[in-house]
This record gives sequence, structure tokens and C-alpha cells, in this order.
Amino acid sequence: MIASIFGGLRRRPLTALCVGLLASVAAQAASAADCPGHPDAIGTSRTIVVDPRAHPIIGTMQYNKTLPLADREVVLTFDDGPLPKYSNQILDILAAHCAKATFFLVGRQANANPEGVRKVRDAGHTVATHSQNHPTGMDRLPLDRSRREIEQGIASVTAALADGTAPAPFLRIPGLRVNDGIEEFAASKGLQLWSADFPADDWRNVSANRVYELAMQRLEKKGKGILLLHDIQPRTVAALPRILRELKARGYRIVHVVPATPDRPATPTEPQQWQLHPPSEVVATSRWPKVPKFAFAGPAALPVPALSDLDWRTTDLGGRTARRGRGVPLPPVTPWPRQTTLPPAGTLAALPVPAASLFKLPESARLTLLASSASRAATAQARSTEVSSAKLAGKSRRHGRAAAAQPPASAGQAAQAPQSAGETAAKPAVQAKRNGRSVRVAGLKKR
Ligand SMILES: [Zn+2]
Repeated sequence: MIASIFGGLRRRPLTALCVGLLASVAAQAASAADCPGHPDAIGTSRTIVVDPRAHPIIGTMQYNKTLPLADREVVLTFDDGPLPKYSNQILDILAAHCAKATFFLVGRQANANPEGVRKVRDAGHTVATHSQNHPTGMDRLPLDRSRREIEQGIASVTAALADGTAPAPFLRIPGLRVNDGIEEFAASKGLQLWSADFPADDWRNVSANRVYELAMQRLEKKGKGILLLHDIQPRTVAALPRILRELKARGYRIVHVVPATPDRPATPTEPQQWQLHPPSEVVATSRWPKVPKFAFAGPAALPVPALSDLDWRTTDLGGRTARRGRGVPLPPVTPWPRQTTLPPAGTLAALPVPAASLFKLPESARLTLLASSASRAATAQARSTEVSSAKLAGKSRRHGRAAAAQPPASAGQAAQAPQSAGETAAKPAVQAKRNGRSVRVAGLKKR
């Protein structure tokens, strides 16, 4: 069925889309009919059968694979139970919605509340395991202990079921703290290791409203997937009804997952369906080659020429030196000093500073300077062009030419105050600037 829909998607996208829509509408209608007395229930849209040996690890929080869900399909999972006080309320809420979930039960909790394990099973949910004692850092435990935790957890839940059946071969490691050894062991036992696609942080000290918000926000980001919740938390009990109502309002559907058995074969799937967002031929992507992974060697591993290669005494260089130095005996020790002693760091601050008096001009020198400027003023008439252009160079080199064309300033003005000379010289510069602008504007207008 799924394979045929996906096959059609490749050939005739529109037809497949219609078929898909009809199928989902039919599924929703069926789920409402399957939940008598609860017209607002989200229900369970379908059940998928998975083969743990074919897909030993799932959940995009840690792996690149997840359950073969269609867009807007959600799998509910609850960890750490059974704890009657809250687990029973969770079961009641799910029953009111005819929503089927997977429960990852703790062996010790099952020993303490075997009735709770049977309630989960009798309500039609999938019973799975979550270790015996819920150790917080299983990835750091010796592998033998991790194995015992997994096996004892299964044994305890099996005992609590008390009907000769075993829990589903679905395993979730506490805190998702897996390591290679645990993954290999789980695979060797035919267990499917479940991570999740998104949590709602309901084990943290947050409000029920926050649990609801995180569940919906994170689901919206991925569009589908496995939701990780805990049936031993009051905030989860408080948040769950709202989560289920909102899931329905936004068009999400609940999917129930069960393990394959000899008389219940796995739902046929294509390998790409086990990816969260399988590549599609109708979505344009640039297929660039992947950037290769560079292996960066440590600096010690860089090739270094052998010391012997650099030692001139081992080569003919020594002989040549001797030949070149014939008649001039080379001193065995270099006669010049090799070591340069630097002054201490503090000395730099103590460098001699010239005294202020050094720059004081004697009275006589000032007179001489004034006299020379007066004599220069006398000859300014002759060199006025030169003087004004030199002053302008200080103001604006660009308009120097325009200012040079001005009539020469009088000798008196030049000597009296350099400021006024500057002002008079600045005027033509501004004029030139304005002219320049108007010319540019005119040029623009022409275009
Ligand atoms: Zn847990």
C-alpha cells in the first residue's frame, strides 16, 4: 500500500496526492468512529509493524533514521513508569482520545507495580523496556552492568505481564545515554534501540504549559516524529490533554507502533521512508559533492628534515670550507659577540625627555623672525601668486588652481593676519566648489 503510493508519487504526483489525502481523511473518520463517546478524540490513525532486526536504531535526536512516518504523523512514547498515581491518569487521558502509545517501563517500577504493567498492556498500548534501575549514565557504566540492566529490565516486565508473553523488543536507554557497546548488545539481542525525534522537557522543572509549548514547537519544526514524554510527571498529566487536542486541531495523526512477529509481518516500507526528510525528486536541490573530511595531523607528525641533513660537518661542505679558507686560518670560536644584552623592560620609560626650556626662543631670535617676515611682506607684491597658492595648499589642494587665479592680496593684509588671508583665499575655493557642483548637476541633467 505505502510502496504503491510512493511509486505513484514518482509517476503521477497529483494522483498520489489525492489518494494520500483521501487515505488520511478516511483514517481520521475511522479513528473518530473507533472512539465512541469521544467525538473530539484524535484517535489512532494507523498501526505500523516494525522489524527491530531490520532497523535496530531509530530516532533523529541521535541517529539519522526514524520510524517510517508520513508527514504529520506522531508516535507517542512514555518513559519511567509505571507509577500508579500519574501513569493511571495518563492511561485515562489516552483512553479518552483512543490514542495508542508505547510505554518504556522501568524494571524496578514493574516489580513494585506489576498491576500497572498489565494496565498498559490491557489498554492496547505497546509495552517496552527502559532498564532495571534507570541508571543515569549508562554510557559510562562497564558494559557488563549495562547488559544486566537491560536484561533484568526485560525480565521484570515479563514477570509483571504474567501471561507468558514478553514485552516488545523495543528498548530506550535512560537519558538516551548509549555507547557503541550498548548499541551492539541491543542489536545482538534483536532489540530495537529507540531514541526520539523530539522531547518536551517534561522531566525538567518547567510548567505544564511549557511542556505543551515545547512539544508543539518541536513537532512543528520536524513535521512528524516520535515524541518523548514521561508518565510519572504531574506536568505531563496536566499538559497531555492540551497536546492531544492541539495535535488534532493542527491536523496531526497518532500512529501506533508494534513489533513484527511470525504471524504479523512488518509493514512494507522503502528504505528512504526511514529518514525524517527523505530526498524527493520534486524538491529541487543542488547536488554538490560533499566536502571531504580532512584529517588534521598533530604538529609533531609533520615531516621534518632529519638533523643529519642540516649538519654541514657530515657533508662535503666542511671540505669546501677548508679549501676556501686555505691560507686564512679560521678561528675555532667566532671572534664577534653572539649575545646581545637588552636593557630591562623598565628602562624604556626612563628615556631622557628634552627639557621644555629647550624649545624656548630667546627674545633676540623672535625679533629676527619678525624682521624677516616684514621683509618678506615687502617683496610679497612680486611673489603674491606664489604665496597665496602656498597658503591655499594648506586649505584645499583641489581648488588651489582656482585661488591662484585670484588677484594678489595686498602686502598689508598678508602680514596683518593670516586668518583674513585665509578667508579671502577660501572664498574663491567655495566658489569653485559650487561651480564644480553645478557643472556636475548640469552633466547629470544632460544624461
Ligand atoms: Zn527514563
